[in-house]
Amino acid sequence: MHSPVNMKIELINIGTELMAGHVLNTHHMWMAKTLFESGYRITRQICIDDEAKEVRKEVESAVSTADIVLTTGGLGPTSDDLTRETIAELLGKTLHRDETVMNRLRSFFESKRREIPTGVDVQADVPDGAEVIINYFGTAPGLILRFDRIDSATTGENRKGLLVMLPGPPRELRPMFKDQILPYMKQHSPLEKPLVCVILRTTGIGESIVESRLKEPLKECINDGLEIGFCAQPGMVDIRLQSQSGDAEQVVAMARKIVEDILSKYIYGVESDLLEERIIQDLTKTGKRVVTVESCTGGRISDRLTNIPGASAVVWGGFTTYSNESKSKCIGVNPQTLEQFGAVSSQTAAEMAEGALKQSGAEFALSVTGIAGPSGGSSEKPIGTVFIGIASKSLSTRVLHKINVFDRETFKTITSNQALDLLRKTIRKSNHEPSSG
Ligand code: ATP
Ligand code: MG
Repeated sequence: MHSPVNMKIELINIGTELMAGHVLNTHHMWMAKTLFESGYRITRQICIDDEAKEVRKEVESAVSTADIVLTTGGLGPTSDDLTRETIAELLGKTLHRDETVMNRLRSFFESKRREIPTGVDVQADVPDGAEVIINYFGTAPGLILRFDRIDSATTGENRKGLLVMLPGPPRELRPMFKDQILPYMKQHSPLEKPLVCVILRTTGIGESIVESRLKEPLKECINDGLEIGFCAQPGMVDIRLQSQSGDAEQVVAMARKIVEDILSKYIYGVESDLLEERIIQDLTKTGKRVVTVESCTGGRISDRLTNIPGASAVVWGGFTTYSNESKSKCIGVNPQTLEQFGAVSSQTAAEMAEGALKQSGAEFALSVTGIAGPSGGSSEKPIGTVFIGIASKSLSTRVLHKINVFDRETFKTITSNQALDLLRKTIRKSNHEPSSG
């Protein structure tokens, strides 16, 4: 059995389309994440052309050092699909026609009332000694081969490695990997200890501040085998707490408590929770509704909220009031306010939220107005200036002032995060609940 640190797992993504940038290599990210969640770690990843020479070179190098070699792509019937025969040849295995695979191919095409196209039958060619993994969503089966390797660096003994060939199309690879390969790995190449991992999601605090606040308090947990990881996305930081050694459960639970105590007001969820998902849940619990009124985010907040199932019961609707005229006509912002303080001002943000609250009858109104750039800034209101307003039936109106200097796309993402976070905190406050996640 291996610890995750000394088990070597190499991933070879095969496909000229990946090298040409025609297709994004999503297998890399998806497989790394799926493996990681089970405690396995990819130690090396490489992306190569469909060429036999390349496949041979990289697989040869991988089988000389790795415990598990995973390849993706090139198992299909076309002339550029060379993975199966190249690897069989490299490992000295002859291909034989597998009748079970052949029968599956026949019934696959029969069910579609189609003749078997020429060349498709090569997918029934299996290297001697390989285990065939049924492809429930396509025609090319996955293949597992055991190979001898000499781990000279550590033991000098012969050890068996696992080589897994997976089909390229994501809708075939993903279920096969998750439902068949991963369980196989757990059975045949188990880890010493399972991984215990929790991800806490924060917003409204920068990565370096998160790190500096947690460094000291988590020292003891780190000595007990805790690993911490930070993953920053625009306006958000995920904190990953994990352990695979000693009392992993206890260490992670202890670390989680420490982090939750220190960062309570920034944590909005765990694992893959979304901020907007949290808001829809909180609104649903209390049966309250929100209305949005957006200028510089152009509907982004409304879009994010309405991506969540169940939004229809709690999202009253949204206004996208981009011009001064629409701010006045649609939600009743006083033209004098616009004249005196400008469209990007605390006063306008407050009037936008209050106007939308009045028009809608929702319990919360969230407004955003700002200067996304690249032009339109001044010394008093530089590019990136944003005012986020929140009006509600039970609390007095509040306006946040932020300066978000980014490209327009990132500006919208970050500003919508800040606005949604303000909404989340206000909903909690109005329920007299602590503002922690
Ligand atoms: P097929 O029978 O479809 O030929 P295959 O096993 O030979 O399957 P490829 O030909 O390598 O697989 O890839 C098929 C398609 O799958 C590609 O055109 C691409 O759209 C997708 N694909 C392959 N590799 C990846 C990858 N690493 N990430 C995302 N998509 C991929
Ligand atoms: Mg192919």
